[in-house]
Amino acid sequence: MINVAIDGPAGAGKSTVAKAAAKELSYIYVDTGALYRTIALNAVRNGVADDEQGIIDMLSSTEVELGYENGVQKVYLNGEEVSAFIRTPEISMGASKVSAIPKVREFLLELQREIARKNNVIMDGRDIATVVLPDADVKIFLFASPECRAKRRYDELIEKGESVMYEDVLADVNQRDYQDSHREIAPLKPSEDSIMLDTSELSLEESIQAVVNCVKENI
Ligand code: C5P
Repeated sequence: MINVAIDGPAGAGKSTVAKAAAKELSYIYVDTGALYRTIALNAVRNGVADDEQGIIDMLSSTEVELGYENGVQKVYLNGEEVSAFIRTPEISMGASKVSAIPKVREFLLELQREIARKNNVIMDGRDIATVVLPDADVKIFLFASPECRAKRRYDELIEKGESVMYEDVLADVNQRDYQDSHREIAPLKPSEDSIMLDTSELSLEESIQAVVNCVKENI
């Protein structure tokens, strides 16, 4: 099986780029952020979002699964499809928080590895090259400047009809970058053998082609 790891900060266009590249290569696209978001959703629903021990205790009654419908990833929480509920700013911040808990990362590790064992995948996350799939065939670290990422996320939210301020989105991006890169466990950083891809100056189409080319040249 061919395994491609794509890591990078929030809002670098990773998911859009990885999804399109996976389609072009006929690989399965795995969005691992959705798994952390699902844990965060469950924590909010159980009223333990700010209680680390409560989150850990909750795991024994939490079942997370990934499925695919016409190539589109769906995520299930205890059998309920929750893909539509995990994209809010509250859950984004919650995901960043739960992902710093070692037991949560451990809980989700095997699920991610199993998918990669059984399929050709482009797996998108923060620690795919360093922790989840250290033997991936191709490792890409996709990034862009914080301002550029905030602007893209802002445009996305406005398009969805949400009323947000650019300054708040930028503050969120900076805060999540800080949290994700300063945590003790699996901090966001490129592995030594990652190909560094800066998309600040690239259009979406150019970013997709850059990833597809990287994969083709390295498998
Ligand atoms: O990629 P996405 O923005 O959906 O990820 C949500 C949060 O989940 C991130 O801010 C990060 O803290 C966490 N995450 C992680 N490891 C991954 C994927 C996501 O820690 N592999």
